[in-house]
Amino acid sequence: MPILVMKFGGTSVATLDRIRRAAKRVGREVANGHDVIVIVSAMSGETNKLVGFVEETAPLYDAREYDAVVSSGENVTAGLMALTLQEMDIPARSWQGWQVPLRTTSAHAAARIEEIPSANIMRKFEEGMKVAVVAGFQGISPEGRITTLGRGGSDTTAVAFAAAFGAVRCDIYTDVDGVYTTDPRITSKARKLDRIAFEEMLELASLGAKVLQTRSVELAMRYKVKLRVLSSFEEMSDEAGTLVVPEEDIVESNVVAGVAYSRDEAKLTLTQVADRPGIAAAIFGPLAEASVNVDMIVQNISDGGTTDMTFSCPVNEVKRAEKALNDAKAAGQIDFTQLVADTNVCKVSIVGIGMRSHAGVAAKMFQTLRDEGINIKVITTSEIKVSVLVDRKYLELAVQALHDAFGLDRAA
Ligand code: ASP
Ligand code: MG
Repeated sequence: MPILVMKFGGTSVATLDRIRRAAKRVGREVANGHDVIVIVSAMSGETNKLVGFVEETAPLYDAREYDAVVSSGENVTAGLMALTLQEMDIPARSWQGWQVPLRTTSAHAAARIEEIPSANIMRKFEEGMKVAVVAGFQGISPEGRITTLGRGGSDTTAVAFAAAFGAVRCDIYTDVDGVYTTDPRITSKARKLDRIAFEEMLELASLGAKVLQTRSVELAMRYKVKLRVLSSFEEMSDEAGTLVVPEEDIVESNVVAGVAYSRDEAKLTLTQVADRPGIAAAIFGPLAEASVNVDMIVQNISDGGTTDMTFSCPVNEVKRAEKALNDAKAAGQIDFTQLVADTNVCKVSIVGIGMRSHAGVAAKMFQTLRDEGINIKVITTSEIKVSVLVDRKYLELAVQALHDAFGLDRAA
C-alpha cells in the first residue's frame, strides 16, 4: 500500500471533537487505499503550559528533564488519536518517539533527527494495521534519554517520516488553509498561494512565517518530499492547500512570492571597536557561546583605527548578548566605547526566486518604504530575499505597503 503521512497541529487536535474530525480525514485516506502514518502535536496551548511548569519549578532547569516534561503533550494526543481510530474500526496504534525508535542527537530541546528505522512500523502494516499514530516533536538520544526537536518540531517529525518511509506525500494539517503571501491578520489582501518553491518556503519560514518549522522545509527539500499545507477546519471537499514544490514545478510566479516579518527584534551597536584582524571573531565568538542567535551583521567602513559593529538578535536575547559582550570587554578580549541597544525594531523581508532574474527589486522595496516615511536601519540581502530592520511601530504599514507595491494580491 502507498504510505501517506498526515500531520495534525495543535489546533487540529485541541479537543476530543477536533480529534474525531481529524480521524475522519485519516479514515478517508485509509478508504482511498493508503497506509497512513499520523503525526500529532500536543493539544494547542499544552506545550506552553508544560514549558511554564518547568520554568517555574527550576529556572536553570536540566534540559533532559525539560524534554521529559514538554514531550508529554504529544503522548496524550497520540494515544487519543489511536483510540478514536479504533472506535471507527480502523486498526491503529500509537508510538512514542522512543518506541519507533526515532533516534536523535543529544542536543536537548533542539535535537536533530539522525535515523528513523522503518522495520517496526512496516511489520505492523504488513500484519494489517492501517494507521500508525506517532507522537511528534520527540525522539531518543544515544544516551537513551527523551529529546525534543525544538518548538514546532512535529512538522519536522512528519517530513522525516515521509522521507524514511518513501511516502507518496506529507500533508500538514493546520488552522490556515495554506501558505499566504503574508500574514492575513496584517492585510486582508493576503492571498493563498497554490504553490511555493522550497527555497521560498525556507526563507519565509526562517524569516518569521510560522506555518512550518524551518528544519522541516530543509528536510523536505533535501529528500524531495511532496509537502502540502492545508487546513483541517475546511470542508473535506475543499482542501487544495498549498503545495511546496521544487522550483522547476513553478510555471508562472510573481517576482516576489511573499512578505515575512519578525516582530521582536533588537539592534545592538558596538561603537569604536578596534579595526584589526580577528575583531569580528572576538565579538561573535562569545555571543555564539552565549547562544545568542545573531542575524544581521553590519560593519561600518573604518575611519582608520576604529569602526562600529552592528548586529541584530531576538529581543529576548539582548540581556544575554549584553552580558557576553561586557564580560568579553572586562576580560580584555574586545574593546568598545559604547554598547547601544535598540529594542524597538522589527524585521520585514521580501522573498522570491524571481529576484534572481529581475533587477530593481531592492530599489522598489526601498522606494516603497521611503514613500511611507519609514526609515530603514539595517539592510541585508541574499539571492532571493531582501530584509530590513525598521521601527516596530511601522511593522503593519511596511508589510501592507510592500504587499501592495509588489502586487501580491494578484496571481502572476
Ligand atoms: N507541541 C510542540 C510545540 O508546540 C511541537 C509542535 O506542535 O510542533 O512546539
Ligand atoms: Mg506548528
